[in-house]
This record gives sequence, C-alpha cells and structure tokens, in this order.
Amino acid sequence: MDYLVLYKDPLFSIIIIIAIIVLVAIADYTRNKYKQKVKRQSLGDFAKNFEYYGIDDNISGLMEISKYPTSTLTFIADIYVTNGNFSEAIKIYLTILDKTQNLKDKMEVLELLGLAYYKAGFMQRAKNIFIEILKNNPRNVKVLSLLMQTYEILGEYKNAFSVISCLEELDENIDEVKKYMQILILINDSIMPLKEREREILRINKDSKITNKIVLNYLKTYNIQGFWDLISKSDNIYNYIDILWNLKNPNLDKIKNNKQISDVYRAKGIICDDIKCDIFELETLRVLHKYSSKKGNLGFKYRCSSCQGIYPFETTRCPTCGELGSINLVLEIMEAKFEKNYSLL
Ligand SMILES: [Zn+2]
Repeated sequence: MDYLVLYKDPLFSIIIIIAIIVLVAIADYTRNKYKQKVKRQSLGDFAKNFEYYGIDDNISGLMEISKYPTSTLTFIADIYVTNGNFSEAIKIYLTILDKTQNLKDKMEVLELLGLAYYKAGFMQRAKNIFIEILKNNPRNVKVLSLLMQTYEILGEYKNAFSVISCLEELDENIDEVKKYMQILILINDSIMPLKEREREILRINKDSKITNKIVLNYLKTYNIQGFWDLISKSDNIYNYIDILWNLKNPNLDKIKNNKQISDVYRAKGIICDDIKCDIFELETLRVLHKYSSKKGNLGFKYRCSSCQGIYPFETTRCPTCGELGSINLVLEIMEAKFEKNYSLL
C-alpha cells in the first residue's frame, strides 16, 4: 500500500527521473573518459613505431619543468623544419608524443610529425600518420589534402581519388584536382585498351585547365598524330617549348601554318627562312644559327607562379607549396657544347 502511495507521488517520480539523468550522465562521462584513454594509449603505441629517431632526454627534462612545454617545443621544431633539419624536428615531436597526456596536444603534434615526414620525403611514414589522424578526425580537410598528395607521390592514384571523393563530400572545391587525378589513373591503367584510354583522357582534358601538358607528353609516346592535333589547337605553346625542342623528327608539314610551333624549329635551325621568332630566346637562337659560327642551345627550368620556387625538373604539382598547375617554363639560352662535326670529307 505504502509502495503504491510512493509510486503515485509526483515528487518521487521527479526524484526517479533526476536519478536516471545523473546515472546516464555518469555513464556517458565514464565512457568518454575510457574512449579518450584508449585513444591516448593507441596514439602512444602508434608513435612508438617511429621511435628509432630516439627520445631526447634534454627535451624530456624540459617538458617536466616547463609550464607550457608543447607550444615552446613545437615552435622550435617548426624552425628546424623550415631550415630543413627534419631529424631534429622529428625527435622533438616524438618526445612530446611520448610525454604529453593531453589528447588534443597529441593530435596536433601527430599532424606536425606527419607533415615533417612528408616534407622530408618519408612518404610511407607520413601516409601511416595521416591515416591514424583521420581515424580520430575524419573531417580534417588539411590532413585529407596531405594524404591525397602523399598517395599521389607514392603513385597510388586510385587511393588519392578516394580521398578526393571524401573532400568533395566536405564541400571542398576540387574539380580540377579530380580531373587531374582521373587522367593520372587512366595514363597508368595498363588494362584499358589504348584507343579507349586515349578517348577518355582527351574527353577529361577538354574541360581541364591543368592537364594539357601531361596529355601532350602521353600522346607524344603513344599517338604522335594525336600529339600534333592537340598542340596545334593550343592558343599559347610557350609552356610546351621543352617538349617540342626535344622531339625527334618533328612533323614539319603538320606545323607549317602554325607560327608559334614553327618558331621553335626556326630557333633550332631546322626551318631556315627569314621569318623572325616572337619569343626573345628563340629569336636569339635563330639569329645565332643563321649568322654566327657559335651555336646556341636551349635549357629549361620550371618556376612556380605561386611560391616562386624554381626546379630543374618538370612537375605538375609544385614540390614546395603543393599548388597544381602553377608551374611555368623558364627558357635559358646556353652555348651548345660537345657538338660533333660529322664531315663526309
Ligand atoms: Zn609553389
């Protein structure tokens, strides 16, 4: 009877509801604490995989006595990274990962460690770290972009494409990157028949702003007629002068009506007429060929319009700033040396 009275008492019901809420809150708090502990443990175990750089005892000591050691140490490590001293930076990051118990700090340092490995060229290690970070935070756009570029450098284009799909779902505008990666996948697809592959590459390239040179290099090897057809349609061939210059047996019939392309072969001395070249370096070489006993040659460098970095090799993505399609050709006139005189006399 007493029990029924209690049951009907509104105060008792409120106490029961409050007790349930408190119990749920405690259970939730305990579960979150446990999850954080498991994450911390898992990150600690993961970092141990990279510990052959060694934990620095001096840094460990500093971490024990300093009030805000992580921010100070990451600042120092950042300077090491800027100066290219990656092993010192990595040592600092690994020591912080070993000593700090703060999950947020651990995640931030892990990202910096991944970036240091990426910049140092240890792509496999960088990849493993970026994947580990994304397990904890799959919406980290910066790490997704880095993972995509890491896959690209490792030649794992299909995996890079999967990351692009994730970025697209996060509303990132990466349409050009998507076309670029599709073309890389097609070029490296050894199963698709050549004709079908070429058709697909040209279809994607038609709407792309950054893949024309990759496609020209591909056609140069697999379909030279297709190469001439595509390059003849280009409004400005300046960035393709290196391909044209190094091409053996250019099809002069195909290009006779194209002044820009013909100029390259005027500078090389293959077309001999009195028409002046529009580009200064090409005109200089043409004049040398025509009027001087000295012969000139053309050297090539590649400059990023975004970070102004200069590279001796051709690349679509800037190795320093990661920008796509920002690389422009730089022409360099040099004296032709070691030319043999094949005299028939
Ligand atoms: Zn750059």
